[in-house]
Amino acid sequence: MAATDCIVVGGGIVGAACARELARAGARVDLLEAGHLGGGATAAGMGHLVTMDGVPGELALTRHGVGAWRRESDDLKRSAEYTPTGTLWIASTAAEVELLERQRSAFAAVDVDAAMLTRAELAAVEPALSAAACAGLRVPGDAIVYAPKAAQWLARQSCGGRLRVHRGARVVRVGPDWAQAADGRRFEAAQVVVACGLAARELLPGLALVARRGHLLITDRYPGTLRHHVLEVGYAASTHVADAVSVSFNVQPRPTGQILIGSSREPGVEHAAEDADIVRRLAARALHFLPGLDAASVLRVWTGVRAVSPSGLPIIGRATLPGAQGRVWVAAGHEGLGVTTALVSAALLRAKMFGGSLPAGLERIFAEDAA
Ligand SMILES: Cc1cc2nc3c(=O)[nH]c(=O)nc-3n(C[C@H](O)[C@H](O)[C@H](O)COP(=O)(O)OP(=O)(O)OC[C@H]3O[C@@H](n4cnc5c(N)ncnc54)[C@H](O)[C@@H]3O)c2cc1C
Repeated sequence: MAATDCIVVGGGIVGAACARELARAGARVDLLEAGHLGGGATAAGMGHLVTMDGVPGELALTRHGVGAWRRESDDLKRSAEYTPTGTLWIASTAAEVELLERQRSAFAAVDVDAAMLTRAELAAVEPALSAAACAGLRVPGDAIVYAPKAAQWLARQSCGGRLRVHRGARVVRVGPDWAQAADGRRFEAAQVVVACGLAARELLPGLALVARRGHLLITDRYPGTLRHHVLEVGYAASTHVADAVSVSFNVQPRPTGQILIGSSREPGVEHAAEDADIVRRLAARALHFLPGLDAASVLRVWTGVRAVSPSGLPIIGRATLPGAQGRVWVAAGHEGLGVTTALVSAALLRAKMFGGSLPAGLERIFAEDAA
């Protein structure tokens, strides 16, 4: 008899959300984390909860993801510094204005509230934006969070004692009902969920995940500079470019008054060392749209690595690991949307493991086994 019902490997935002969801469903869960809860890609990202329409299925997934955050408890929202900034997409050419229009129609078709803004309206809602931004699309339901805190909060929910966290447990191998840690500890359970981000490919050889690195900059405190999370409309397409480095304007006002400036996409890069050229390009793109940042001090620059699947959507379902006997599962490969989609990913996993209906619009997209 297994010691518990489920092992979840990885305490990032995705693993923590899955562990809580399975425990809420009544399972006894052991969450195994090698280092710090919320310390992987989760700590390196922007924490923007954003509705996106980049690849087929993404709009349905992110719409459910943002909605799930909105319905979360006040306690999680407080702890994760949930702030309903909304998103402001901006265009700087006629072709980009058309893209914004198309995005508005796609959002409207699935009942996502979004409104076009003229240059004058844009200037009224975000006076710091330069005239390079000639139109906008405002999505008021989007928000921002501090993702590491969210992961820690989710992992702390004991769910009546059913969710236990084991820190310092770096899993080196998994099987259908066990996980072996590097320090010799062996954990047993009826089912095993691999949710450790890019490292999932080490535990599940054959899982098609690749790295896509990103740089972020953060400034000193300049409260009141921005109200919305602001992105250029080309950002959505840049998130699915597989073979070239891209740099887009993607800027967030933190509740502290700091400005978080992103973001780059560097396919296949996994090391942490900063690239001075990319930092310069990010700063130049930010100044193009926010010239007032010229006088701002950048306090810190860092990099993080996104895990990317071939479809561009996360891999959620049964893993086809040899010998897994259908009892090993995977939730990984969330690219730049893992914070947005962590809660809905957990709901999908729970439905697949324990039965129950998948969130509407996601049945077909996530019908297959994972890999
Ligand atoms: C620059 C950048 C900007 C981003 N911006 C956003 C954004 O604005 N909005 C958004 O939604 N998403 C964003 N993302 C993406 C988001 O951060 C990720 O999709 C998400 O954090 C992935 O979570 P995860 O839990 O799958 O992986 P991780 O956060 O990497 O967590 C994996 C965990 O597993 C642990 N682990 C690894 N190997 C093992 C092992 N063998 N045994 C036990 N534990 C192990 C790690 O220590 C880690 O804690 C961004 C990412 C980057 C890099």
